[in-house]
Amino acid sequence: MFGERPLSIAPLPELWFGLGEARRLAEAVRLVGATRAFFITDAALVRTGIPDTLAGALRESGVEVGVFDRVVANPTTATLDDAADALRAFGPAAVVAVGGGSSMDVAKGAAIAGVNDGSGRDFDYRNDQPVAALAIIAVPTTSGTGSETNAFGVIEDLATREKFYVGHASALARVVILDPLLTVGLPARATASTGLDALAHAIESLAARHPNPFATGVALEVAREVSTWLPVAVEDGSNLEARSHLALASHLAGVAFASGTGLGLGHGIAHAVSAATGAVHGEVLAAVLPHLMRSNLDLRADVYARLGLALGANAAASSHEGADAAVSAVAALAARVGAPSTLTDQGVTPDLLDAIAHAALADEVTRNAPREPTLAEVRAVLDAAR
Ligand SMILES: [Zn+2]
Repeated sequence: MFGERPLSIAPLPELWFGLGEARRLAEAVRLVGATRAFFITDAALVRTGIPDTLAGALRESGVEVGVFDRVVANPTTATLDDAADALRAFGPAAVVAVGGGSSMDVAKGAAIAGVNDGSGRDFDYRNDQPVAALAIIAVPTTSGTGSETNAFGVIEDLATREKFYVGHASALARVVILDPLLTVGLPARATASTGLDALAHAIESLAARHPNPFATGVALEVAREVSTWLPVAVEDGSNLEARSHLALASHLAGVAFASGTGLGLGHGIAHAVSAATGAVHGEVLAAVLPHLMRSNLDLRADVYARLGLALGANAAASSHEGADAAVSAVAALAARVGAPSTLTDQGVTPDLLDAIAHAALADEVTRNAPREPTLAEVRAVLDAAR
């Protein structure tokens, strides 16, 4: 019965959204009670000059700044340990995550590891930590992951090649600075894949085993925003209107799934495929989502029909027809922004499918799927997406 499952919407990070808001970074550092800041970012972003500009402004405000710029896509326990060592050497500071989901995920792990003993998987979110994480300030430079809204990060364990979740309740960002100007330089392909990730967050949150009206309302609006503005931003990366809509929509998709719905099998598969082939998270999701939605169609026809309307499909005679239109709209949007349509295009060979299916089933995110999938059902989705 509705109401039997408690809904708790916990305090989220303070959000500062708007063009130019990154100028307030020094204010955020003071707000969290720090006088020093440690950036966690990646080399590609350093080449854009964004971290240097932000660090320069902080130094002018009298804040001492350290930088770790060796975050990689699909980060591993080695990345996490390197970042933690660099932070321990620098000493206590506000941890400033500047970048996409990978930088934010590593920053959460490093903020915990920087003040606790251990390495790698010791920082699995299920382990308690004696000391609370250093304060985190998140400055996203992509519009997709929503990673700034939760206290978990996806890390690959190099020893087992499995993904696990680093995290701790104290590793939730204190302040999120969402400045669309920082996303203007993102290339078209990364704009497309991160935007499709945000759409996947909305769709998996809508269809989750335990949906709630807060997440449903937010996720439907996120889907409408992404479908409206993603093609515009992919076509013209300098369109600030599109960049602004996408920045806020991707953040709100994270707010939706952080309200307790979580995600689902799509993310279980995406984590497993990226671990196996290094494929881009949002591109795997784009190839898998239409097939996954089809496999859940009978269970989630009503909400998918509402999703279809949000994605611009015409009102349908039945919820089944409307849901079908939603599936087509998702596939069409992915194609329009140039995402690869199959897993084969992303390096998935037949010999990998069994291991991917097992890893997807074992991933905790899969527990939020509308119903517990069987191995055969996961294989069927993978086969359809090949
Ligand atoms: Zn995602």
